[in-house]
Amino acid sequence: MQFNVGLYSEKINILTDEPLSKHSFLRCGGKAELLAFPKSTEELVLIVKEAKRTHTPITVLGGTTNTLISDKGIEGLVISTKNLKGITVMENLVVAAAGETLDNVIDKAIEHNLEGLEKLGGIPGTVGGAIFGNAGANGISAGDFCFYIDYIDRDGEIQRMMHCSDIFSYRKSPFSKDDIIFNVAFRLTPSLNIKDTKLEKERYQKERIEKGQFRYPSLGCFFKNPDNISAGKLLDELGAKEMSVNGASVSPFNANVLIKKQNAKSQDFYDLSKKLQSLVKEKKGIDLEYEVTLLGDFQ
Ligand SMILES: Cc1cc2nc3c(=O)[nH]c(=O)nc-3n(C[C@H](O)[C@H](O)[C@H](O)COP(=O)(O)OP(=O)(O)OC[C@H]3O[C@@H](n4cnc5c(N)ncnc54)[C@H](O)[C@@H]3O)c2cc1C
Repeated sequence: MQFNVGLYSEKINILTDEPLSKHSFLRCGGKAELLAFPKSTEELVLIVKEAKRTHTPITVLGGTTNTLISDKGIEGLVISTKNLKGITVMENLVVAAAGETLDNVIDKAIEHNLEGLEKLGGIPGTVGGAIFGNAGANGISAGDFCFYIDYIDRDGEIQRMMHCSDIFSYRKSPFSKDDIIFNVAFRLTPSLNIKDTKLEKERYQKERIEKGQFRYPSLGCFFKNPDNISAGKLLDELGAKEMSVNGASVSPFNANVLIKKQNAKSQDFYDLSKKLQSLVKEKKGIDLEYEVTLLGDFQ
């Protein structure tokens, strides 16, 4: 593939035919035709422009904690945001680059006496991924706090979406898979008792560990809750915790979480997810919708 980022070609880290299993949270997935790690907005724009010029399809990865990557790999250019770093605080605005972890943002806010996001403490992954999927926990979601979001649109143009907290919904943002988020400004509130705010964040983080969420590699909840019914409870009642496909199993802690035991492949997770969907459809007449993103070809 002809991919020419001119003067920057020496500086931008772009790998060819790179196994994504080396980079993904689940340690699964085939090769990326091209895998780029831009370190700044300038590098990101340059790479995207070149991809547009050469009609190369683009796929964006954050921390891959909610993404199942096909064993057949991904065609075109894969952009990892993990080197897009930086958090600045201006009064009650915390502005974070897409590749920062959500936990870092919460900690930085607390350092500056700001509160709001602590109930999301311990959700793995990046700011970009949290905004794209409107990650949430304990009654709040990442999108609730957005003041503005900077992104590159499908035409390669930089855009700013302002005052956007109202247009998020349950695990859904206004962004499409053609948009690349690179900066997010969270509007937070001065804390009246920063020690309590810090303790609260740590408690939510600890609860996740105690619940066994990190005992096995997983992608968190695999399915969205249908109409306020807990997908985990529904699956548990139907005996899903006994189910597995090769090394992919339903978690003993939460039937909506699929965990990796032994050397499971992405296809095993996909096959297990299809079995779970069929079970719920057959027994309850409900269609379970994916919360995780499936990237590449599955069948
Ligand atoms: C143990 C565990 C617990 C979890 N608990 C929760 C929870 O309580 N609540 C919850 O909501 N989720 C939870 N998750 C799921 C996941 O951590 C979150 O959804 C997280 O916000 C995903 O971020 P990421 O960077 O890993 O996104 P990725 O998995 O990398 O990407 C997710 C989607 O966002 C897109 N994307 C990523 N970055 C960008 C960007 N910069 N611009 C545009 N699109 C982008 C990707 O293309 C993909 O479609 C959990 C996961 C695990 C493993």
